[in-house]
Amino acid sequence: MSPHAHLPSGFPTVIGRGLAAEFRNFVNPPFLVVTMDDLWPRFAADFAGADCRPYLTRSIERAELERDLAALGEVRAVVGLGGGQALDVAKYFAWRRNLPLFQMPTALSVNAVYGQRSGVRENGRVSYVGFAVPECVFVDLDVLRAAPPALNRSGIGDILCFHTGVLDWRYAHDRGRAEAKWPWDPVLAEQSLARVEAVIAAADDIRALTDRGIAVLLEGLKWGTSFHGAGWCPRHIEGTDHFLFYTLEALTGRKFLHGQPVGLGVVVGSMLHENRADELLDVIARIGLDIRPEAMGLSWTALEEGLTTMRGYLATLPLWHSIAHDVAITPGFIADLRRRLDRAYAHRR
Ligand SMILES: [Zn+2]
Repeated sequence: MSPHAHLPSGFPTVIGRGLAAEFRNFVNPPFLVVTMDDLWPRFAADFAGADCRPYLTRSIERAELERDLAALGEVRAVVGLGGGQALDVAKYFAWRRNLPLFQMPTALSVNAVYGQRSGVRENGRVSYVGFAVPECVFVDLDVLRAAPPALNRSGIGDILCFHTGVLDWRYAHDRGRAEAKWPWDPVLAEQSLARVEAVIAAADDIRALTDRGIAVLLEGLKWGTSFHGAGWCPRHIEGTDHFLFYTLEALTGRKFLHGQPVGLGVVVGSMLHENRADELLDVIARIGLDIRPEAMGLSWTALEEGLTTMRGYLATLPLWHSIAHDVAITPGFIADLRRRLDRAYAHRR
């Protein structure tokens, strides 16, 4: 019997409309609204006259956040309002000041809202620190639908990656390379895979961002909390998918729309495992998430370098064992990937 049958998933979540205007009525003042400079003009009116002030996220570098924390003055609660970065910074401030946290994602681009730890950078390297559980996550349907479609479509990356995460876990288990503290658990894996199937079945709804599409995205992203729930086991959550993203980020020093490199990593990992690569690529393309390197401002030369150096780079990181640690990516593999991507997006815009 798996100790991880029926893990709880997500944080308290409220779905509605006009939610931003309500914070003033229940958040303990004075409070801080952690957001982004391009978002604040859209929401400032919802907070006009309230005893609060905006914090416009410029950096997620930990030393800079600490500097800003020291200068914050009196704050009794934190509201996170944005995509991934603002929500991560809101978590960080709430954690460091021991303050109640309320989160409102303006797009479902990443699972940051459903994780206890904050993904900050320390000297440019990603580091997941802290522990912050929001009192509530407020999901405003009109706000989500007003976001650029690519942002919400990006969210499937943090769900479809369960497919490759589970494949890598099984792969490591079969070779005696699964970590002793994270033994293969088919019941836990099955709960991840059910969320992948839900995205596949709801592809058209996710593309159109119908109520059902939003519900499926939320259910998948909520599973991010099972990293903590399973005792900080990442095995059923991510593998080669995110490993490619880490490689590309380190190689280029660039920021990405999370779902693009992760989605590409799902396809690359599925090809390495020879498991449903074309099917997943078709779903990603059908939903309208463009994972071709040119769509994320990456040259094919840079991607080739990333793919061929990934194995060596991963060996330097404290990650769990995956197929990408073992298999050398060849020019033939890269040509095959390019053919598949060209085919998948040939008739789509
Ligand atoms: Zn992710």
